[in-house]
Amino acid sequence: MVHETGFYDLLGVSPKASADEIKKAYRKLALKYHPDKNPSEGERFKLISQAYEVLSDPKKRDLYDQGGEQAIKEGGMGGGTSPMDMFNMFFGGGGRMQRERRGKNVVHQLSVTLEEMYNGSTRKLGLQKSVICEKCDGYGGKKGTLEKCTNCKGRGVQIKVQQIGPGMIQQIQSMCPDCQGQGERFNSKDRCKNCNGHKVERKKKILEVHIEKGMKDGQKITFHGEGDQEPGLEPGDVITVLDQKDHPVFQRQDENLIMKMELKLAEALCGFKKTVQTLDDRTLIISSQPGEVIKHNDMKCVQNEGMPIYKDPYERGQLIIQFQVEFPEKQWLPEHLMFQLERLLPPREDVMITDEMEEVDLCEVDSQSQQKNYAEAYEEDEPSRVQCQTQ
Ligand SMILES: [Zn+2]
Ligand SMILES: [Zn+2]
Repeated sequence: MVHETGFYDLLGVSPKASADEIKKAYRKLALKYHPDKNPSEGERFKLISQAYEVLSDPKKRDLYDQGGEQAIKEGGMGGGTSPMDMFNMFFGGGGRMQRERRGKNVVHQLSVTLEEMYNGSTRKLGLQKSVICEKCDGYGGKKGTLEKCTNCKGRGVQIKVQQIGPGMIQQIQSMCPDCQGQGERFNSKDRCKNCNGHKVERKKKILEVHIEKGMKDGQKITFHGEGDQEPGLEPGDVITVLDQKDHPVFQRQDENLIMKMELKLAEALCGFKKTVQTLDDRTLIISSQPGEVIKHNDMKCVQNEGMPIYKDPYERGQLIIQFQVEFPEKQWLPEHLMFQLERLLPPREDVMITDEMEEVDLCEVDSQSQQKNYAEAYEEDEPSRVQCQTQ
């Protein structure tokens, strides 16, 4: 049985993705395809939102994994939230009541490095916004000269009659272009030259985004009232969402940093001394004692060398090191030295061999074909043999 993965594909994540990965994927795509930024991708925006609504809810995700989209529909569990509400809930757009009296919020994603989140940083965000025209104070022209629009007779709309067939006409209603639907307008000599009667002008505004030590991927920094201005409307907010870039060495897990470190077999068995470059460019020396054996995938940690705690930056999490022990290549040691090495290693266990036992060949496993065989065995529900490949 093949499970449906359409919702996962829409978000570009694997069906095994964690809740955090799903959240991050939605965040990126929702910002990318938001109608403000990508007006032609409304359908895509809707689909992403539907997928996220299901996959972000453990119950619905379970149902989807078992029975696909059909199960979601039958269970009456799909499509409850509009894409825009989902977006506003996710990015904190405020309640519906509030939104009606205020201009809308604008969300920007800011790509930041792990170093910036470790050390703190200030970034400049340049944006275009509408501001109330300074010349006319948002009035649009000379005070007291506003007159009824002659084109639409003050209705703000224009009705066009179109013949669409013999004896059939269609009325098309559209916004009056002369007064922009306002029903009133200035004649050209009284109209504000600066904003051309639009009451607002586009201006470039630079916002300083303070990335504080310990801030996280997905964290929002809100600039209250920095959204577009419109006469008679309280401006909305500009919301900056931090998007952490992957780091080549460290992976972050809340307050901890995780890194992999390769060890030669000699280092793992006989002790080592190695260095680690921190995110604020200090060099740490870490070492193990001779006799302390480090096994492959062993983890050790250094206290207080993880990420700074947000709002308490003198405290830091742990630096967790996962050791990867590198074994020597084939034939690294001439055969006649083998027994000398063996004398130094812990003794092997003797195996009792009897006549009833069968001697078989040990060969390399092609892991891909092995997995495939397992999958087939599982699906066909009949035993299938794992085949050895000989080179
Ligand atoms: Zn008009
Ligand atoms: Zn003006």
